[in-house]
Amino acid sequence: MAERIHITLGCTVCKNKNYHYARGKKKEFKIELMKFCRKCGKQTPHKEVKS
Ligand SMILES: [Zn+2]
Repeated sequence: MAERIHITLGCTVCKNKNYHYARGKKKEFKIELMKFCRKCGKQTPHKEVKS
């Protein structure tokens, strides 16, 4: 059973939704990653948002 959930990562600064990825269903941890935000023009913390 390789069920996947598609997650959206949004910039915590400007709330722009920048990244999408898939993860397994069982791992329910909060994700926060430093990612480049085009809108901010720099790396900002990105959090999982409900799409
Ligand atoms: Zn941003």
